[in-house]
Amino acid sequence: MPTAPTGVGHLRGAEPFPVAARRALADAQLRRNLGHATATIRAKSAAVIDEVPDWERLRAAGSAIKTDVMARLPELLEQLEQRVTQAGGVVHWAADAHEANAIVVDLVRDTGSDRVIKVKSMATQEIGLNEALEAAGIAPVETDLAELIVQLGDDRPSHILVPAIHRNRAEIRQIFLRAMPGVDPALTDEPADLAAAARRFLRQTFLSTPVAVSGANFAVAETGTLAVVESEGNGRMCLTLPRTLITVMGVEKVVPTWRDLEVFLQLLPRASTGERMNPYTSMWTGVTPGDGPQAFHLVLLDNGRSAVLADEVGRQALHCIRCSACLNVCPVYERTGGHAYGSVYPGPIGAVLSPQLTGVADNASLPYASSLCGACYDACPVKINIPELLVHLRDRAPHPHAESAVMAAAAYAMDRPALFAAAQRATRLSRLAGRRGRGLPPPLSGWTDGRDLSDPPPQTFRDWWANR
Ligand code: SF4
Repeated sequence: MPTAPTGVGHLRGAEPFPVAARRALADAQLRRNLGHATATIRAKSAAVIDEVPDWERLRAAGSAIKTDVMARLPELLEQLEQRVTQAGGVVHWAADAHEANAIVVDLVRDTGSDRVIKVKSMATQEIGLNEALEAAGIAPVETDLAELIVQLGDDRPSHILVPAIHRNRAEIRQIFLRAMPGVDPALTDEPADLAAAARRFLRQTFLSTPVAVSGANFAVAETGTLAVVESEGNGRMCLTLPRTLITVMGVEKVVPTWRDLEVFLQLLPRASTGERMNPYTSMWTGVTPGDGPQAFHLVLLDNGRSAVLADEVGRQALHCIRCSACLNVCPVYERTGGHAYGSVYPGPIGAVLSPQLTGVADNASLPYASSLCGACYDACPVKINIPELLVHLRDRAPHPHAESAVMAAAAYAMDRPALFAAAQRATRLSRLAGRRGRGLPPPLSGWTDGRDLSDPPPQTFRDWWANR
């Protein structure tokens, strides 16, 4: 199965996770911003989840629906295509990022517009759509406040839900003063002032741009209805004001029926923003004459998802509803932030999704970006067993020759009791002779560069047994 192509999109980092993480850890301001933001969201989310007596049953239902969707994905997608088409929309199938970008660029060109407004969308970040539009002379304008901060700051998102989580309000003020057209030079760093400045800038853009590009949180196969959930109302403006709407959606986002959607609309807001109900839930089915966009295009994106689906263990990663709860509870994410993961999908879900979309060799360090503490599994509203996936992917990642040689030697020694006892004695002697605390020599030093080599016990089990 083809994986996501290289040279386009944002699924591969420029450097391995340990290198990028080390640099992020040295940034005290970043760690403060992240620690404060994740702790606030965690507390808010835990409080509203506690109010729901059947939360565990909702999680089980969400997991079961997603398992069913993966088992009959082709059938559901064909049903979705049929319903969208019947309702006046046009469905396009994109095998990868290149195809999806080309489809969207052509559609925008056909409208004659040189600007599009965008609803926050992970799929369009994944395929590098903004870069493709800019290369074609079309200006994309992000309308989600956090995405706008990232775009104006010439930055990259670092969190699924709060893309500018690594910025504090003083930094945001600086970005607005530097890059936002028409901003008041007396702008303060009060959140209400910053939001008002963004609103003034965006309102003009909403009213004068005839094309919008969105992602989708869900698509209901039985009616061909698309759903976007968001908190600011910018999405509602993008989905209703322009004449043309183009939605780019990963194929895994389809759900069979409205009853299934009901489960996810309960799980998502409590697990993500810590709200009881999502502030803006926009739904549309094809085109309605005289109301809203009069042309609707749905681009169904694969970009490596079929390869993920083909792995019976790994396909769980496609159950993700992008709530970001796993990021907010992850002790690794909380310290390194999202940029260290290199991909638009950071944190625990990124560590299992990105390597599968690209092929494990292209993101080989990500499955190791975890302590395997299991907090992500406990937090996930659709019960994705992320630790199991991490171990599964570690097994598939390329391993250094030295590691294979050591494992083969250990297996050989463990099979031979006399040799194993001699090896234990030798280990004790070498540690007593001065290697203690200094780690292993090359080529095994990679193992002890980041961890302490434990002291050998004063007495082995075999010695203890023999003495009895
Ligand atoms: S893996 Fe689970 S917790 Fe993490 S973003 Fe996806 S749905 Fe949310």
